[in-house]
Amino acid sequence: MLEAIDMKIRSCMKCKLWKTRKMAVPGEGFKETDIMFIGEAPGSSEDEHGVPFIGRAGSVFDDLLRSIDARRTEVYTTNILKCRPPKNVDPTEKQIKICTHWLNIQIDIIKPKVIITLGNFATQYIMEKFGLFDKIQGITKIKGKVFKAKKKDENEESLFIVPLFHPAVATYSPSKITELKKDFQILLYTRNYEDLCEE
Ligand code: URA
Repeated sequence: MLEAIDMKIRSCMKCKLWKTRKMAVPGEGFKETDIMFIGEAPGSSEDEHGVPFIGRAGSVFDDLLRSIDARRTEVYTTNILKCRPPKNVDPTEKQIKICTHWLNIQIDIIKPKVIITLGNFATQYIMEKFGLFDKIQGITKIKGKVFKAKKKDENEESLFIVPLFHPAVATYSPSKITELKKDFQILLYTRNYEDLCEE
């Protein structure tokens, strides 16, 4: 099922980014995972190869995963936008609105128990999507905290959201890697999220 969506994403022409992309980047990883990482948008290496987080931010991401003894193959990694915006400019509201059609389907299929949002764009979108609009106070204030998504009905399983800095932060300010690694430690405690969450 996810493969069918990947194929649709690869040939998507819903917004203008298809004209400038080399490859769309649907996402990759373990489809049965409980943990989904959501970044911003593919950069030039990702656009070249069709795989998320393989450029400079990708090496930081791998380093962060290693620091908690996790592997890409154990989690699912994707982005808010599936195609690279030329010159890596910020995603527009319109692009986000159009492209998250795919992300919403991916979330419905994978049914993660924990969504980790990397950076402002993913955090804003996911917090709003799951009814946590009132908690958005800028990534610096909420990063590393655990939020529980509001359930639509009683039978729905709990979903936790953990906003974190985008790994690219450490490519601009290498000294930030220590803080990023410290924040990543929260992912070692997923079993205790019910007790650790903000509400
Ligand atoms: N590469 C990605 O796949 N996503 C980002 O957000 C940044 C780099």
